[in-house]
Amino acid sequence: MIKLLRRKISLQLLSFYILFVIPVLLGGLGFYYFERNQLQQEAESADLGLVQAIALETETNLGRVSEIANSLATSDEARHLDFPQLQRTFANRASAHPDISLFFVHDPQGNMLTNYPYNPQPIGQNFAYREYFQEALKSDKPYVSDVRDSATLGITVVTVSRRITNEQGQIVGMLGINLSLEKMTANLNVVRQKMAKPGIVRIWVVDGNGKALANTEGVPPQTDLQERLPSLKLALKGESGNLITTEQGREWLNSYVPVQGSHWAVIVQRPTDVAFASINNFQTGLVIALVLLLLGASFFWFMLNRRVITPLSRLAQATSALTPDKPEGSMNSAVLAHERQRIDEIGNLVAAFVTMEANIHAHFEAIYQQLQEQLQILEAIMRSMEEGLLLESPDGKVVYANQRFCESMGLSHQEVVSEGSQALRVRLAELLVSPEAYNQAVLQAQTGGPRIFEFQVRGIYKGVGEYRPIRRDIRLRVFNVRDRNGQLIGRGKIYQDVTSQNEVERVKTNLLAVVSHELRTPLTAIKGYASGLLEQDVEWDEASRAYCLQQIVEEADRLAEMVTSLLEMSQVEAGTLKLSQGQYQLDSLVREAIQQSRTAYDQQRINIDLPAELPLVEVDGRRFRVVLRNLLENARKYGGEKALIEVKAALEPDNNNGQALLITVQDNGPGIPPDLTERIFERFYQVESGLERSSSGVGLGLAICRGLVAAHGGRIWAENRIDGQSGAVFHIWLPARLLQFPQRAANQPKIAVQ
Ligand code: ADP
Repeated sequence: MIKLLRRKISLQLLSFYILFVIPVLLGGLGFYYFERNQLQQEAESADLGLVQAIALETETNLGRVSEIANSLATSDEARHLDFPQLQRTFANRASAHPDISLFFVHDPQGNMLTNYPYNPQPIGQNFAYREYFQEALKSDKPYVSDVRDSATLGITVVTVSRRITNEQGQIVGMLGINLSLEKMTANLNVVRQKMAKPGIVRIWVVDGNGKALANTEGVPPQTDLQERLPSLKLALKGESGNLITTEQGREWLNSYVPVQGSHWAVIVQRPTDVAFASINNFQTGLVIALVLLLLGASFFWFMLNRRVITPLSRLAQATSALTPDKPEGSMNSAVLAHERQRIDEIGNLVAAFVTMEANIHAHFEAIYQQLQEQLQILEAIMRSMEEGLLLESPDGKVVYANQRFCESMGLSHQEVVSEGSQALRVRLAELLVSPEAYNQAVLQAQTGGPRIFEFQVRGIYKGVGEYRPIRRDIRLRVFNVRDRNGQLIGRGKIYQDVTSQNEVERVKTNLLAVVSHELRTPLTAIKGYASGLLEQDVEWDEASRAYCLQQIVEEADRLAEMVTSLLEMSQVEAGTLKLSQGQYQLDSLVREAIQQSRTAYDQQRINIDLPAELPLVEVDGRRFRVVLRNLLENARKYGGEKALIEVKAALEPDNNNGQALLITVQDNGPGIPPDLTERIFERFYQVESGLERSSSGVGLGLAICRGLVAAHGGRIWAENRIDGQSGAVFHIWLPARLLQFPQRAANQPKIAVQ
């Protein structure tokens, strides 16, 4: 819940709103109760004030009438029962007090003596049974009666009575004044009329028996009101106050008060909805205010949500879709279409984001372009590297291989970097001369051993499927790739083909040792034989001397030949070799080469199988014989004494619709390791075998052969036999321009046959 609240600003605002509204509501409620009591008390006090005013008015009236009764009862005309004078006095008083309906005088026994304005003469009727008569006799104070019917007038009245005493204190009569209640009722009606809303206030004046005296409701006097007015009981007990009663489902506020100087009470009734109208108004006002507050706040929240929060979340939604890999326009999408129309702050914000998006895209585009350019440069560098480059993750997974590496492995980039690089592992196992040694060296390089080491492969690819089975020397350099913090993020391997480099090295290191050895051997032999012949004390027979001299000549020839070979080798390398070409029969060249050979051949084991109509070859005869002799000597030397050597030749079409000559020298010896058929033509390269260097040569023979043949414009290469037998096959290919066919040869006298 808290999470949701923290994520939604609308909910946060709602919470703040609730936190604001609850205290306001509670405050409003408290204020309402406080004010309501206040207003209720005010309304009750107002009604109480009204009822007190009416009671006071009634009391004053009664007091006034009692005063009149006092002054009349104590007047001389009353004491002397001077009726004519009394009549005049009564007339005077009556004119001043229209609510007095009757003045009358009884004798002490209750007989009517006189009254005004009806009967000035004594009429004799006895009223001794009247309560007011009995009560008035008891004291000198005027007595106010309850409501009653006036027998004299036939109306309902209230009587104020006072005894009359003479100078001796004897009771000579009783004075009575009847007050008409109509006047009181009229007064009450006037009061009611003056109220703001007539008709909704009831005023009652009730006597000590609970009978109606006067009221605004038209209830006849003397009607018993005890049932109707529950507050009457309290008022008649002399209490004053307010009481809320219910009458026919409507609540009434009763305000009651006793009338001093009598047993009467005044009661004012008002419906509570009128009496407390201000409370109701206040209540309604408060409810309306709160409802308006709630509505206003809800409307404010709704509008805030609609106009601010929702657009902001849409903006956030659109912004989250804003990534450099997506096309520009996320901010322009339909989601924000409405917001973009706006010209207020939200509209400005969206416009700013749209601009920002464009800037970001432009920025990323620029960076991307820059990156692409840099990548292309890097890629070009990698591609043009002579060396193969392999990058691996720390756990050994191939992550990158440059073009050179892929080409030399004969694999596509995909195959090299694909899952597990299985294809690469298989290919390496095929190519490596010694996979175990390679793996061990790599492991050592990765765990602190030498980072650079060399190994050999049986051959390399020049592209996918183009395998060249030529043994190569590869130098591997392993290096760690680290990030800026020095954290290992991968390993790199650089594979460099150092075959030619090694050859140069080999030439450098071997040249002196080999050559000095090869030169010294014949010299030593020559010196040995010559010294022997010069010995004075030794007698040499003819045959021995001839043998020694023969040996000296042969060794000298060998020496000369060695020096010539070296010279020629250096000339071949320097490109300064000058050929002295002539036309020769191949057959003769082969036989002379055999003759010149230092090795003795078993004639039975050399098979020269040349077609009869071979063209003449236009070559440097001496040098071509050197080539043939080297091949024949090698066949004898490496094929073994029992080797069967075959020399063949055949014409074959060349690329220019002419005919080329292919000369083949083959033996049935052990042959040449397939991946070394090329390397044996390198200078000083010798296949490792049990043969001692002294007996097997210096490793220059084939290099010179290649140099000489190439100087003629031909080619020489080696293979192993493919006819099911073992043995090496050397091919010399001479182009058509070096061939002279018989018909042309007839015109050419310069045939050098040696
Ligand atoms: P050298 O004979 O002085 O060692 P070469 O250049 O003539 O040097 O020959 C290079 C290598 O080629 C030899 O060491 C040998 O191992 C190999 N070779 C040459 N001819 C043959 C052959 N006919 N059969 C087997 N191996 C040969």
